[in-house]
Amino acid sequence: MAVISANRIHVDTGALAHNYRLIQEAAGHAPVLAMVKGDGYGHGMVRVAKTFSNEGCRNFGVAELCEGIELRQAGLAGEIYVTVGFSPDDAAAFFTYNLTPVVFSTSSITALATEAVQLGKTIGVHLKVDCGMGRLGVGVHEVEYYQNLIGRTQGVTLVGILSHFPESENVQTESTKQVFSVFSDACKVLGNDFPGIKHIANSGAVLNFPETCCDMVRSGIALYGYSPDGVADHGQINGQMLRPAMALTTRVAMVKEMPAGAGISYGHTYVTNKPTRIAVLPVGYEDGYPRLLSNNGEVLIKGQRAPILGRVCMNLTMIDITAIENVQPEDEVVLLGAQGVEKITADDIGNKIGTISYEILCMLGKNNQRLYIE
Ligand SMILES: *Cc1c(COP(=O)(O)O)cnc(C)c1O
Repeated sequence: MAVISANRIHVDTGALAHNYRLIQEAAGHAPVLAMVKGDGYGHGMVRVAKTFSNEGCRNFGVAELCEGIELRQAGLAGEIYVTVGFSPDDAAAFFTYNLTPVVFSTSSITALATEAVQLGKTIGVHLKVDCGMGRLGVGVHEVEYYQNLIGRTQGVTLVGILSHFPESENVQTESTKQVFSVFSDACKVLGNDFPGIKHIANSGAVLNFPETCCDMVRSGIALYGYSPDGVADHGQINGQMLRPAMALTTRVAMVKEMPAGAGISYGHTYVTNKPTRIAVLPVGYEDGYPRLLSNNGEVLIKGQRAPILGRVCMNLTMIDITAIENVQPEDEVVLLGAQGVEKITADDIGNKIGTISYEILCMLGKNNQRLYIE
């Protein structure tokens, strides 16, 4: 039998499927593009794409070209959007692997066109417009230029226009309405008879501004069970909650009694003020478990919360189990997820260290062996 790490990511594929169905329900007639960048937000890109595919998903989004190739090589069908651009030198791969380019430069359009003409093919491209995000995309005033450029360039055809919301998780600001209005103007430039698809909504927009769903929604974090604003209660669609799909567990390596006045871990940033029983866990920042949780985080053991004592090391973390009976080496410890009635979410961990669920899921998911629960 293969020996595997004590630190294990558990991915609940049933939760992924449940979340997909909820998002599709919220998006109405608009198909859902599943964002599977970041190795499927740490859940495993190929496996989650296949799970969504089984639920009827036909559109997938990655950041880089190499990720799209990996998905295709794994046998995934459907459209695969490459969203952050590509080197013109790599344009041929879009044809080899039947991938969908998102463009925002003349050089990428020219490179695709050159390849297309050589192959005697035509490729559909989606134009990325910056409508207020302040990130990737051409200006609204450039849409007409790009429409004309693509229109007169043999081998490429404009099949979509897209943009992105900077704060759709926030219902208190006018931002989403404003950005959507700019996007609507950009779409108008293309004319009423533009046959392509328009897409801008991310998870926050699907949850909070369903009127922006247009012809497709691009959802990421909600598919993995989290509300983009970090408030679990907001991750709700028609009275049904999104379900976090990821958990991380480890096992107790050692239990020991420390006297009062004992320093714990590097730098002795924690010193016991009474006799204290600790458990040593074989997990650390190497596994994506943030060092910022030193003297700050909590884990679950025997269904109870146990605080982290001292610094999180590369491969070891100490917890206080003085108040918890009968802890033994090999006992399961939950770092992320539920145990009994208690749970620790990626939002909980993010809140403690000043970041968001997205980053926690990526860090933990990509640094640990994943097991899939069907
Ligand atoms: C990541 C991403 C999304 C999905 O965002 P979520 O907040 O995770 O739903 C949508 N569109 C683009 C272009 C993205 O990069």
